[in-house]
Amino acid sequence: MAEQVIVFCSNYRRELESLNLPGKYGDIELVYFPSRCGMPPIEWAKLQESLSDVGSYKELHVVSCGGITGLSEKECINNRYYSHNFQQCYHLIINPDLAEHYIQKGFYLVTPGWLANWRNILDGWGFEQQDSAIMFFKDTARSILLLDTGVDPLAKANLAEFANYVERPYESIKVGLDYLKLLLNNTVLKSRVENMQSIKTVELADRQKELADFNMALDLLGTLTRVREEGSVIQNIKDMFTMLFAPSEVVFRSVFENNTAGSPEISKGDSFTLEVHGSSGLVGYLDIIGVNQPQYLDQYKKLSDKIVNICGLAIENARHYQVIKDLSDTDGLTGIANRRKLEHHLAHEWSRMRREKKPLALMMCDIDYFKKYNDLYGHQAGDDCLKKVAAALAGYCRRSGDLIARYGGEEFTLVLPAADREGANKLAEQIRKDIEALELKHEGSPVSDHVTLSIGVSCMIPTAGDAVENLIVAADKALYTAKEKGRNCAAMF
Ligand code: GH3
Ligand code: MG
Ligand code: MG
Repeated sequence: MAEQVIVFCSNYRRELESLNLPGKYGDIELVYFPSRCGMPPIEWAKLQESLSDVGSYKELHVVSCGGITGLSEKECINNRYYSHNFQQCYHLIINPDLAEHYIQKGFYLVTPGWLANWRNILDGWGFEQQDSAIMFFKDTARSILLLDTGVDPLAKANLAEFANYVERPYESIKVGLDYLKLLLNNTVLKSRVENMQSIKTVELADRQKELADFNMALDLLGTLTRVREEGSVIQNIKDMFTMLFAPSEVVFRSVFENNTAGSPEISKGDSFTLEVHGSSGLVGYLDIIGVNQPQYLDQYKKLSDKIVNICGLAIENARHYQVIKDLSDTDGLTGIANRRKLEHHLAHEWSRMRREKKPLALMMCDIDYFKKYNDLYGHQAGDDCLKKVAAALAGYCRRSGDLIARYGGEEFTLVLPAADREGANKLAEQIRKDIEALELKHEGSPVSDHVTLSIGVSCMIPTAGDAVENLIVAADKALYTAKEKGRNCAAMF
């Protein structure tokens, strides 16, 4: 008789197989139901059919997103059935906070299992026509993000195929299996410990301790992944080790891209070094130096081994977060900030200058006769020209708080906190001259032989009655004036 039967969505078959739970626990059976993505929950009657091969069991754990229908009261109260219901199936492999963060950034999250099955899923959703799928994904997502658990060598190819089919860009991040492993260990071990009254006390104590460690690890992972910048994640990790072992110092040595340089082990009687691994390899070393009670060093090391991988995962999550954040703040063509980032930054600087009672200047720079440039030299050359102008403009961000962004098309915006009207005007004139001096040939321009800019400048000391939009409108009006005046010039509103 199986101690436990775990029922899982078939989209996660590969992940579960690579965790090898039956190998680890012996008396666990795994049963898979066909993916229900976006469709009604599993029916109890159907599930019982799949269970008919299993024989008898003590506990049934159904892990699903959407739950189960048609389950009678009687079945529920006889205490053999446990439902582990997740709002989204990817909550099995990454922390829900992190998933939510990616979704907020406009990513549509997919897993290797989902991708292996994407054509059937789209059919199930009624998207037999490619056009309707394209429309749906255009409305829903700016990009497709694969949460790569690393179990399917075809996942990346499937991702490309799917993303191309729905005409969306795509990214992938490695998430590994640690999170799933923790969730399952927690589930599996938890009910085992509760049901092990008849088993020897020693073993029970061991299992209880293991459970406590896993619980702590899961709690820790929750806390650490909620902190998003790598710096604060590392600070939290240091604080935790300080709290646990009272060392005189905790040092984290970061390793990027498996560069293992500088990894000497500390092997003094009161200190030790931990390798910190994430799902895609080594992320760094933690030196725990000068613990308060060195006689417990072995115990400290054992406990550290249990939690150090969670730390690795949290650091890796923070790095993923940064990559995604950078991607979603960056203009794909020019590599400078995009409009999303601009709006965020401008709002921030507006409040800051309001508090500090200093002026905030804004410049709208628009390439003159750029349509003619494209017509004459082609779109590709147009793109190259945009890159060169963007790179040149980036050189004017000299102080902290300065930002250059692509506002759209051939229009760029420069944010200059603490710049007064006179200074902003002078700089605008300098920029105008410098761009013309780049001598990017533009034979179609009636105002110059080279690519030129028209620049609109606005400047305000923010007050409670004003909105940041007024600053943008003013710069826009000034740009219009510069165009009216004949282009290749700057104007101020
Ligand atoms: P003006 O001096 O009044 O600003 O004239 P303009 O031709 O620059 O302005 P208009 O708004 O008529 O045209 C802007 C052109 O910029 C049209 C569009 O083809 C081009 N453009 C916008 N985005 C891109 C891009 O990403 N790449 C390329 N190559 N061209 C772009
Ligand atoms: Mg233009
Ligand atoms: Mg324009």
